[in-house]
Amino acid sequence: MCPNSFLLFMKKLGSWKGVVGTQHGDEAKGKIVDVLADEADEVVRYNGANNAGHKIYNTDGSRSVVLSQAPSGVLKGKRGFIAANSLFSPSAYFEELERIKKFGVDNAIHLTRIATQASLIQPHQRLRDVALAKEAIGTTGRGIGPGYGDRAMRTHGERQLDLRMGVLLEDTQKAMRIMQNNYDAEVALLERDPECDQKRLKAAIAKLNIKDLMAQEFDAINTLVGLELIEKDPAYIVRRLQQGMNILAEGAQSLYLANLGTTPYITSSDPSVGGAISCGMPWQYLKELIFVAKSIPTRVGKGPFITEYGGSAQEAYCMEDEGDKHNRAYEQAAYGHRLDACLRSNNPLEFAGAVRSQTDEYGGVSGRPRRLGEFDAYMIRTAIEMYGATGLHLSKVDCLQLLKHRESIRIGVGYAQSGKNIDYVPTNEADARRTEAVYREYGTFDADISNAKSAAELPKELRRMLQDLEDYLGCPIHSIGIGPRGDQVIFRQGNWALAA
Ligand code: GDP
Repeated sequence: MCPNSFLLFMKKLGSWKGVVGTQHGDEAKGKIVDVLADEADEVVRYNGANNAGHKIYNTDGSRSVVLSQAPSGVLKGKRGFIAANSLFSPSAYFEELERIKKFGVDNAIHLTRIATQASLIQPHQRLRDVALAKEAIGTTGRGIGPGYGDRAMRTHGERQLDLRMGVLLEDTQKAMRIMQNNYDAEVALLERDPECDQKRLKAAIAKLNIKDLMAQEFDAINTLVGLELIEKDPAYIVRRLQQGMNILAEGAQSLYLANLGTTPYITSSDPSVGGAISCGMPWQYLKELIFVAKSIPTRVGKGPFITEYGGSAQEAYCMEDEGDKHNRAYEQAAYGHRLDACLRSNNPLEFAGAVRSQTDEYGGVSGRPRRLGEFDAYMIRTAIEMYGATGLHLSKVDCLQLLKHRESIRIGVGYAQSGKNIDYVPTNEADARRTEAVYREYGTFDADISNAKSAAELPKELRRMLQDLEDYLGCPIHSIGIGPRGDQVIFRQGNWALAA
């Protein structure tokens, strides 16, 4: 059926917008989703699970909450949907609902429905993640990789590895038995696995505390079932679109942690718009696709990061003690009292540590320090070309003020290996690690822009840089973020450089 005849079948025209991260995650998607949610009737999460952590502030910036599984719009009373390609942890969701209550929203539980096809994150998957992957590739240890692995594997002999939410509607007790059985079998397997560090395994078993965890899962599952929050209709989203609703699809993680990422440092689900479409969000209703990139890019965990300050030295520093050693408290004490000197420092670790401590670049859920680098426009342009964004939200532009003592703000516009330009984004680790960026330089600025109300109030060096970046990307810079609050966004009104 051609698109036009399809349109005839559309009943009432709603539409959807997608928001997709286009670096290594943590691009501040949560905030822009929160802003765009004002115009939406419902926010859909279509990939990932509680490995995401979207930090959102209230209107006056005095309180914040980290959302992991709840779609960002719930803070504004919008309906939410956790779609088919997601994993879902009931116990973690109820902990999150407590955080949301403390933030001041009491009814969040009633707002979000969960697709029957979403998979439950089970205790054995959490155990396997901590025992085998957390340290090796820097995962969050919440069972996401093993969860998606089991979803693909489905069974292991007689064991039913993957449990969908829909199973809970049929027989909760049976689902609990399957979970317990999977856990016991996993412990036995890991105890015999030569790749598994037995000390780490013992610690993980003690920390998980399966008896308490199963009790929590049981309570959480019963509440979800009792409140009829598990959605049986696989066409739920399109029905909402047909009712004329406007839907915002909130991607978790990022394109450079998926097909554009370097294995094994990637995420297990599809954050691209394709991930949303395969949940049943028809492309014919797609109105806008906003990519999000952070002007001070970060990467958490291990993996190549071509424009990283200090290269692999910062990677090692941030991952020491599984990321716990140089945490927020450590760095605030280390850099806070000599900030200016550190921002002038030629030592990239000191410079990056000082910027991190000022920009709060620590994992929303894990608290791990995020590795910092310079803005890499080449990778973003490639993603835009491949996945077709209609606009780019550039977040944390206010933070570029911290580069005021540097000779310039550098933006990566290409790559080279041994001094010779290459014309592709390397996605193999060894290839990426021998690649360096080719930069364009822009003037720095020393101005607090966090209260600017329009592009005209921004320093001219910054406006020039934004326009040049937009021309380079071949895609409008839809908006820029100038602070954590929802009102700290400047939307594009035309040529950035000419704004008056
Ligand atoms: P996400 O997972 O992609 O939503 O990113 P995180 O929530 O982990 O990290 C984004 C952090 O930056 C949060 O603390 C936000 O409140 C904050 N933030 C978002 N936008 C801006 C901005 O434009 N400027 C500043 N200074 N902070 C921002």
